[in-house]
Amino acid sequence: MPLIDDWFEERTLLDMAPPDVFLQGASAAEHGSVQILEHDESHLRAHVEDTKVLEAAFWLSDGELKWSCTCGAADVYPCEHLVASALATWPGEAPRLD
Ligand SMILES: [Zn+2]
Repeated sequence: MPLIDDWFEERTLLDMAPPDVFLQGASAAEHGSVQILEHDESHLRAHVEDTKVLEAAFWLSDGELKWSCTCGAADVYPCEHLVASALATWPGEAPRLD
């Protein structure tokens, strides 16, 4: 059973998201815009601060990675909020609220 974290490798994210989206996401993660709400082996849910606070989520369904974001731009590939959320799971990338 693969873990959701396996999908959050840099190379995998770059395969899913266009380079400019990846860079915007990386920058948002770096600036501390991401607050992780929920993160276990098959779910990730986070708030990402943009012009408003968006909710980005990844989950596994039958071994496939699914995603959604309240910005509405994440139909075909993960938007920058999703990339930022994924990157924020890397150790030391974002503060965690417990
Ligand atoms: Zn988004």
